[in-house]
Amino acid sequence: MHVRTVLPSNLAPLHDLALNLRWSWHPPTRDLFAGIDPRLWESTGQDPVAVLSSLRTRDMERLAADEEFVTRVHEAHEDLERYLTKPRWYHEQGAGRWDGRTLEAIAYFSPEFGITSVLPQYSGGLGILAGDHLKAASDQGIPIVGVGLFYKSGYFAQRFNADGWQQESYPVLDPDDLPLSLLREEDGSPLVIRLAMPRGGHLDAHVWRAQVGRVPLLLLDSDVETNDASRREVTNRLYGGGGDQRLEQEMLLGIGGVRALRAYSRITGAPAPTVYHTNEGHAGFQGVERISELVTGGDLTFDEALQAVRAGTVFTTHTPVPAGIDRFDVGAIAAHFGDEGNSLPGVPLERLLALGAEDYEGGDASRFNMAVMGMRLGQRVNGVSQLHGAVSREMFCGLWPGFDLDEVPIGSVTNGVHAGTWVDRKLYDLAKAHLGPDVASRSVFTRVHEVPIDAFWATKRELRQQLIEDARARFRQSLLDRGATEAELGWTEDILDPDALTIGFARRGATYKRLTLMLRDPERLKKLLCDPDRPVQVIIAGKSHPADDTGKALIQEMVRFTDDPEVRGKIIYLPNYDIAMAQQLYPGCDVWLNNPLRPFEACGTSGMKAALNGALNLSILDGWWDEWYDGQNGWAIPTADGVEDPDRRDDLEAAALYELLEKTVVPTFYDRDAQGLPQRWLDKVSHTLSTLGPKVLADRMVRDYTEALYWPAAHAAWAVAEDDYAGARSLARYVGQVRHNWRHVRIDHVDAEGLSDAPQIGDEVAVHAYVGLGDLDPRSVKVQMAYGRANAEDTLTDVDYLDLEPTQSYEEGRHRFDGSLRLARTGSLGWTVRVLPRHEHLSSDAELGLVTLP
Ligand SMILES: *Cc1c(COP(=O)(O)O)cnc(C)c1O
Repeated sequence: MHVRTVLPSNLAPLHDLALNLRWSWHPPTRDLFAGIDPRLWESTGQDPVAVLSSLRTRDMERLAADEEFVTRVHEAHEDLERYLTKPRWYHEQGAGRWDGRTLEAIAYFSPEFGITSVLPQYSGGLGILAGDHLKAASDQGIPIVGVGLFYKSGYFAQRFNADGWQQESYPVLDPDDLPLSLLREEDGSPLVIRLAMPRGGHLDAHVWRAQVGRVPLLLLDSDVETNDASRREVTNRLYGGGGDQRLEQEMLLGIGGVRALRAYSRITGAPAPTVYHTNEGHAGFQGVERISELVTGGDLTFDEALQAVRAGTVFTTHTPVPAGIDRFDVGAIAAHFGDEGNSLPGVPLERLLALGAEDYEGGDASRFNMAVMGMRLGQRVNGVSQLHGAVSREMFCGLWPGFDLDEVPIGSVTNGVHAGTWVDRKLYDLAKAHLGPDVASRSVFTRVHEVPIDAFWATKRELRQQLIEDARARFRQSLLDRGATEAELGWTEDILDPDALTIGFARRGATYKRLTLMLRDPERLKKLLCDPDRPVQVIIAGKSHPADDTGKALIQEMVRFTDDPEVRGKIIYLPNYDIAMAQQLYPGCDVWLNNPLRPFEACGTSGMKAALNGALNLSILDGWWDEWYDGQNGWAIPTADGVEDPDRRDDLEAAALYELLEKTVVPTFYDRDAQGLPQRWLDKVSHTLSTLGPKVLADRMVRDYTEALYWPAAHAAWAVAEDDYAGARSLARYVGQVRHNWRHVRIDHVDAEGLSDAPQIGDEVAVHAYVGLGDLDPRSVKVQMAYGRANAEDTLTDVDYLDLEPTQSYEEGRHRFDGSLRLARTGSLGWTVRVLPRHEHLSSDAELGLVTLP
């Protein structure tokens, strides 16, 4: 049983203030809770709900009688109300965008959400990104509703043993102690979502609601009494467990998530989403559940429902590492969705299997691929940086055979980070003092030069000092956990130097992140760390997945290096990287280091967070850095892409890293003017803030998503749903026809008229293509001339396209298509003709993966 605090009526708004996670990025609200009892605030890990539930009656009476405090509570509450109701960017841009229609709800599915360290429902970048997405959507008024799972033990807490080996523990969270409220039916009973399981079993879930500013977040929790013991454990850990646990988690996230959204709308009257965005493949079953709804609820066939669902679905892929792609055994899918108990009525097993089938060159027939299903269920697909978009087009081009890589329909939206969460308060205050109160607006970045540089530098020292104090405490605790005694730890009291060049390096323990690259030549690193005049200090953190012994071995190698008496206290590994640590780490660093194996870092966001806090990036040109490094905003570690031998490649890149540090980074940092300021360094920082600052914001990211993906997806979803899904039916019929007939499509002959022996710019060439289409109507395909520069290998570059028009049917099933090309550039000209599907509801030429060339 859980006894909830009852607040005196004049303090009642504290309840709303604690439950709305806006406090996690709103300093005045944090101050209010801290002010209740500063020591309690710290000991609870800065957790408003925990502070409130620790209050005794007499504390509350004291607070209720404190007029000044009560006034502050009411002011904070009014401020929250204003935040929740004031019109935002979306309301200005999005209202009535299409024929008076407004996109009213977008569902955002993610297996993890990193919002605050108080709600540890994340493991790394994917979750932090999802958290930042919700917060920025809230700030911009974008009507998102988040859907995820509630993990009773979150990810895991990390410690090290005496040997430096990672130890995992799983502290159990009690949702009643968290900023969550249980979704209930009108009669007060908890809402229950039920999924059918094999052999007549079932998986039930409760739904917790978190409130992230304006954005609700629904989290499904299988710890429900009506489940059998093992199913109660389905959501016990994030990315834990083997066997069927992960599949059942993903079924709950996708299928259960859609059902939770429906119940949420029914209970609260919230509009049903038009657009469904899945953050990585894990939530892919959401699309199949929506197909099931349409098939069982209306009179749509599977194919028609598929088209209706695809139109409104956005899929974001997040990893270029093949091993990182989420896949299941086909057998496990068959057991859960076959005759033994299908939780998706109207979805035949073979249709489901086809959605996730790796039926392309190099695929594995025994595997069901969630990313591939995501792409087949989403009409719009994107990667998370430009480079990652290109890598994804190559990685998944097998789904669109016959198309050039740049036509593979996978775009990109580069990630961003939520400034309110990640910019240190001291920097905010500094900006406010010099630039005025409106520091949340983007224009603030173009004015950073108005902040006196010595004031900035003094603040940066404070931030280093703040990091050092936090790091010392964490480091001491780590040594105690590793078996040291208090008596041996005197030396830790003055480790790290607030005036030394501070490098931050924190990441998941995934192999491609190359945690130990800096240890390639330990002597060279030691020299940098031990330089008496120009010392470098390094703070490292990061967890490895519990099942990843390779990652853990790398961490151990690093921890052992830091134990070396020669360097101890100059390079330290802090256990249990989380949001709270990260919020100290980024601001306290001068340099953010990232040395992944290119191109496996899809985007990376930690360097963005560091940049917003006045750090410079020192990084391999991968992910976002490949896009936005401009020669002045930090340093690019040269990559040895193309060097086959991985050891040699690491040697080369590590050598380049040492060289940059020795010759450039360290000298620039320690080159001081008469006032002791590193002018050249500060110029780079100021340039970084003014030019990179506005780009790396999550505000920019969510607007990009809205404009490039959410609005077009809404438009497409409405278009196919109109008139009782006439568009979806027409598209499904069309897709069936073209797929069936495509083998008859061929280009018999192409000729050109008016081409002289010495063609000149401005000449007009008439093109005729003679095409066999079998039973297909000539208006239902696109016959297109592709022309460009021809090179020696007989391939085209700088390609342009000209659509040809059907003019004549010269035989049963054979048609002539004509067009006229005006020569517009000099040099060698080559061309070819191709046939593509054409339908008003297709979003790109490549969408169906069908093309016929001569
Ligand atoms: C930002 C962040 C990450 C992700 O960092 P990447 O550079 O994107 O890998 C992981 N964990 C925490 C705690 C973070 O704050």
